[in-house]
Amino acid sequence: PHVAVWLRQDLRAADNTALLAACADPRTRVTALYAITPGQWQQHDVAGVRIDFELRQLACLRDELAALNIPLCLLEADDYAALVPVLARWADAHGVTTLHANRQYEINEQARDRAVASALQAQDIDTHWHEDLCIVPPGRVLTGDRRFYTVFTPFRRNWQQQLDDHGTRPRGLPAQREAMAYGVSASPLPERIAGYPSHVDAGVARALWPAGEAHAHDRLAGFITEAGGDYDRRRDLPAIDGTSTLSPYLAAGVLSARQCLHAARRQLAHARDARGLDTWIGELCWRDFYKHILVGFPHVCRHQAFKRETDAIAWRHDDALFRAWCEGRTGYPVVDAAMRQLLETGWMHNRLRMISAMFLSKDLFIDWRLGERHFMRHLIDGDLSANNGGWQWSASTGNDAAPYFRVFNPTLQGRKFDPDGEFIRRFLPALAGLDARRVHEPHAKQVDALLDYPLPVVDHGEARLHAIAAFRALAPAG
Ligand code: FAD
Repeated sequence: PHVAVWLRQDLRAADNTALLAACADPRTRVTALYAITPGQWQQHDVAGVRIDFELRQLACLRDELAALNIPLCLLEADDYAALVPVLARWADAHGVTTLHANRQYEINEQARDRAVASALQAQDIDTHWHEDLCIVPPGRVLTGDRRFYTVFTPFRRNWQQQLDDHGTRPRGLPAQREAMAYGVSASPLPERIAGYPSHVDAGVARALWPAGEAHAHDRLAGFITEAGGDYDRRRDLPAIDGTSTLSPYLAAGVLSARQCLHAARRQLAHARDARGLDTWIGELCWRDFYKHILVGFPHVCRHQAFKRETDAIAWRHDDALFRAWCEGRTGYPVVDAAMRQLLETGWMHNRLRMISAMFLSKDLFIDWRLGERHFMRHLIDGDLSANNGGWQWSASTGNDAAPYFRVFNPTLQGRKFDPDGEFIRRFLPALAGLDARRVHEPHAKQVDALLDYPLPVVDHGEARLHAIAAFRALAPAG
């Protein structure tokens, strides 16, 4: 027998449910597959920096798997529809008897997997789809009357209860397989995919986001022992390393969420103050929550608002304003520094994601979907469920979202979370010479013509009233 394991958002060798299942019988040949689908990625707005990260991770994973005597083979097709016959032909040509993969939850991925299952079934090949991506799989955290939660707090209570009852220990590597004549050898890996330039300088991306499971585990351990205890107090300050910066590793599956949870819980067992790491575990729960939302309310995968009545909002069409936001030229320093961080590093601090997303949707009153797409095209950790969830939260169109009348004041947010202006100065060199007061409002007293920095593109006070009035005028969906 020849068993294939198809790796997608789970690019790791350890604690990989599908890989462990594929390796359950020591006598079988096991081959790992990865599919390159550039046209599909384009449709999904996958960022070049994310593709670059995955290719680097695949190179590490190929070596990890080779040490277990499992070759990693690449398949290539433009999109998912074209991939189905490519995968079926490969399986047929290589005498595959069973295919394992970890389930993905987005609608296009689900449709692709159903098509693969039926194509392979027609060739008498079994397929097994495993739950792996979440700590508690979508559909397991349900209300008393078996519905999906739409509010986070009761979701978290139920989720926590399931952890306490069942636990979720990560598992290790599969046992090394005997070296056998495979008939397949590992594919050479491309260094880049045509049409996918990374907007982040290659050297910067490699330095900020090194690939490899070993590195990801070091980063996790470093965070847990050094910053984790203060996470509740420091997570909102973008100038410091107060958060784990593990999101690219979780999004590509270099780490499993179980491994993160386990590391936090182990540390908590002998921590004096649990608040920091408890709050952090709450973030892992948000990750599961938004994946549940995707499954329970699949219309959010189709670019529709969770609160359908908000789709009636007449968003402003203004390309110049949108470009100013994308390029960090709004005249609001904290927003502009945030947008430059995204362009220069492929990542943005969570507090800044909230501030800049709310600024686009409320102050500029531009459709949140445009912002969601811009983020997706530039984030190294771009993930439909978390990105859509975060955008709909900020735009007040989502479940359990920010109430529409609580519009962040970007200047006050800047003062509160970057009090010395250290973060702003790092990403906006034009403001480097300003003191902690002026850096948040460079033109407040008078227009400084010598400063190479724009005036605010909108007046926050007026914009806020306009957005609130537009939301208030919406009739709730019947
Ligand atoms: P930490 O604070 O250390 O949290 C640990 C992990 O928990 C993160 O790595 C992430 O996997 C998960 N997590 C944390 N917060 C959230 C959240 N609110 N929702 C879901 N998961 C969370 N996160 C993404 O992974 N991909 C995205 O595309 C994405 N887009 C976002 C867009 C907007 C508008 C907003 C407001 C948030 C978005 N987030 C997204 C959530 C969050 O901002 C990032 O996960 C976080 O900033 C990553 O940094 P970290 O790894 O240091 O997080």
